[in-house]
Amino acid sequence: MRRSADEIAKMRRAGRVVAEIHEATRAAIRPGVTTARLNEVAAEVLERRGARSNFLGYHGFPAVICTSPNDMIVHGIPGEYVLVEGDIISVDCGAIVEGYHGDAAYTAGVGEISAAARRLIEVTERSLWAGIEQLRPGNRLHEVGRAVQAVAEAAGYGVVREYVGHAIGTAMHENPQVPNYWPGTPGPTLKSGMVFAIEPMVNIGSYETYVLDDGWSVMTADGSLSAHFEHTVAVTDDGPEVLTVL
Ligand code: MG
Ligand code: MG
Repeated sequence: MRRSADEIAKMRRAGRVVAEIHEATRAAIRPGVTTARLNEVAAEVLERRGARSNFLGYHGFPAVICTSPNDMIVHGIPGEYVLVEGDIISVDCGAIVEGYHGDAAYTAGVGEISAAARRLIEVTERSLWAGIEQLRPGNRLHEVGRAVQAVAEAAGYGVVREYVGHAIGTAMHENPQVPNYWPGTPGPTLKSGMVFAIEPMVNIGSYETYVLDDGWSVMTADGSLSAHFEHTVAVTDDGPEVLTVL
């Protein structure tokens, strides 16, 4: 779906709130902090900006952010988990402003982390930007996944298959989906005004996953570390415009 300039302006405002949540939660990440505290920090930003959460209540999700440490890929529920030195933590969050959605995620280290963890974070973020770079009028949507997959697999990593990016607008998850790998069939042709959440989930090991008994937490099947980066991005005649920025 193509959004008007007015709609994209609203999504820019939602995206800015999401970026402020990123900034505030990043600043709060340190050994000894619970993931519940990160959720409080995010909720304070939403409240201060008069924005609504698109995570809280989503299929019953109980928080405004997802917090997924180490071998948890996505959808972790904030709670009593205490961050420890050497952890990596993925934080995913969104906001609704005037009915329009933003959605973005990052992975950060807690204190000093291993070289292997640092490399995973660096490569996953680079794979996100390689995907974003493909969001240009006339390109096909599957080029995003091809670009993400090329970066991640060149590093020897596994690209998660079961969870993918998505179009976004007046709902957080709109069609079409945006796989982070070659899906086997060409995607639709991109036009200016389309908006997508691009979100590679990359594992040091295999791409296979399983879900914990809480019904939410998605884990790597082999216990390897996983990272997740996401931005909400508009296709424009001047190239990709990242909306989830300050
Ligand atoms: Mg997200
Ligand atoms: Mg998303």
